[in-house]
Amino acid sequence: MTGKIAMDNPIVEIDGDEMARVMWAWVKERLILPYVDLKTEYYDLHIKRRDETHDHVTIQAAESIKRWKVGVKCATITPNAERVKEYNLKKEWKSPNATIRSALDGTIFRAPIILSNVQPAVRFWKKPIVVARHAFGDIYDGVGLRFEGPAECEVMIRQHDGREVKAKFPSFKCSGVLQGIYNLDSSIESFARASFMYALENRLDLWFAAKDTISKVYDGRFKEIFSRIYREEFNEKFTEAGLNYHYYLIDDAVARAVRSEGGFVWACKNFDGDVLSDFVAAAYVGSLALMTSALFSPEGHFLSEAAHGTVQKHYYKHLKGEKTSTNPTAIIFAWTAALRRRGELDGNSALVEFACKLENAVRLTIERDRVMTADVANVSEPPVHAVVCTEDFIEAVKRNLNRLIDP
Ligand code: NAP
Ligand code: MG
Repeated sequence: MTGKIAMDNPIVEIDGDEMARVMWAWVKERLILPYVDLKTEYYDLHIKRRDETHDHVTIQAAESIKRWKVGVKCATITPNAERVKEYNLKKEWKSPNATIRSALDGTIFRAPIILSNVQPAVRFWKKPIVVARHAFGDIYDGVGLRFEGPAECEVMIRQHDGREVKAKFPSFKCSGVLQGIYNLDSSIESFARASFMYALENRLDLWFAAKDTISKVYDGRFKEIFSRIYREEFNEKFTEAGLNYHYYLIDDAVARAVRSEGGFVWACKNFDGDVLSDFVAAAYVGSLALMTSALFSPEGHFLSEAAHGTVQKHYYKHLKGEKTSTNPTAIIFAWTAALRRRGELDGNSALVEFACKLENAVRLTIERDRVMTADVANVSEPPVHAVVCTEDFIEAVKRNLNRLIDP
C-alpha cells in the first residue's frame, strides 16, 4: 500500500468505559491508524469525565453528530447506585445512549454479524434480521397505580384547547393494579421514517408489527402513521428498489419470522423491541459480541456501536493483569460501519473499500483460520483451531488485513 487513506470530513468518535474502552484503543491503534489518516472529533465519555462535566460532554457529542452526520461510540457505563460508589460520582447520570438518542430523535437498529461457522438456532435463517426498536414512551415512561377495591376509574385528558377527553374502565370488583402509558405522533413518525429510510438504504423489506385488533386506538395509531408515511413518502422508492412494506399482527410476525429466511428490518414498538432484539441476537449468533447496533435519525444522522456493554467482569480480570478472551468483533464492525458511511457521504471509495477489507479480514480469521475468542468458540461449528486472547485475535485479523491490502 502506498501511503495512508485520506479523509475529507471527520467521524465523531465517542470513547467509553472499562474493557470496551481498552479494546477500543487496541482496535484503533492496530487496525485503523496504520492504514487511514484518521480524522475524528473526539469526545471522552469515560464515566469520570461525564461526572466532571455534569454530563455536558454527552450533549456536546450528540451536537457534534448533528454537525458531522457520522459517529462511532464505545460502550459506556450507565451509572446505578453501585457505580456511584465505585467511581465516587456526583449522581446517577442518565444513560448516554438515551441522551444521544433523544437529541437525535433516532431509532436503534440491531443487526447480527453473520458467520458461516456460527449457525443460527433457527435453521431457515440465512439473511440478516435487523430489529428496530422504538425507544420512546409506552411502559418505559408510564405511570403505575395500585388500588384497594371495589373501585371505579375514569381517565381524563385536559387538552390545551380546554376540551376534555375521557374514557371509563369497567368497575373493579377487588384490589388490583392500573397502568397508564402514552406515545406521541411526532415520535411515531420519526420512528417510521427512520425505519423506512434504513430499510431502503440497506435494501431490505420492512415489517412493522403491533396488535391493532385488540389495541384499536393505541396500536391502531401506530399502524395508521406507518401506512401514511409509507404511502406519502416511500411507496415509489420501495417499488423502484423491489422492496416491500408489510404490516403484521405481532403474533403472526413472530411465527413468520421463525419460518422466514431473514432479510428484513423488523420495526417493533418499545417493549416488543426490547424483548425481540435480545431473542434475535441469542437465536442468530449466540453472542452479543456478534451484534452491531446503529442509531439512525430521520435526518440521516448515523451512530454505530457494538450491541454489548463495557464487559465489566473481563475488565476486572484485565486490571489484575490477566489476559482475557474478550471479543472485539462488534467494536471493529462499529468502526467499519462509520468509515463506510463517511466514505459513502464523502464519495471516498478508498475508505469504503478499506472498511470492506477490514470486515473481510475478521471473517477470514474466524471462518477460514478458525481463530477466535472464547465466546465464539462456544457456539462455533466445526470446532476451532485456536481460542485466543483479545490481543492475539487482533493480531490475527491484522495479518489477514495486510494480505488483503498488499496481496
Ligand atoms: P455486557 O458488558 O454486555 O456483558 C455481559 C456479559 O456478556 C459479559 O460478562 C460476557 O459474558 C458477555 N460479553 C459481552 N460482550 C462481550 C464481548 N465483547 N466478548 C466476550 N463476551 C462478551 O453487559 P453488563 O456486564 O451487564 O454491563 C456492563 C456495563 O455496560 C454496565 O455498566 C452497563 O451500564 C453498560 N452497558 C452499556 C451499553 C452501551 O453503552 N451501549 C450497553 C449495555 C450495557 P461472560 O462474563 O460470561 O464472558
Ligand atoms: Mg432487552
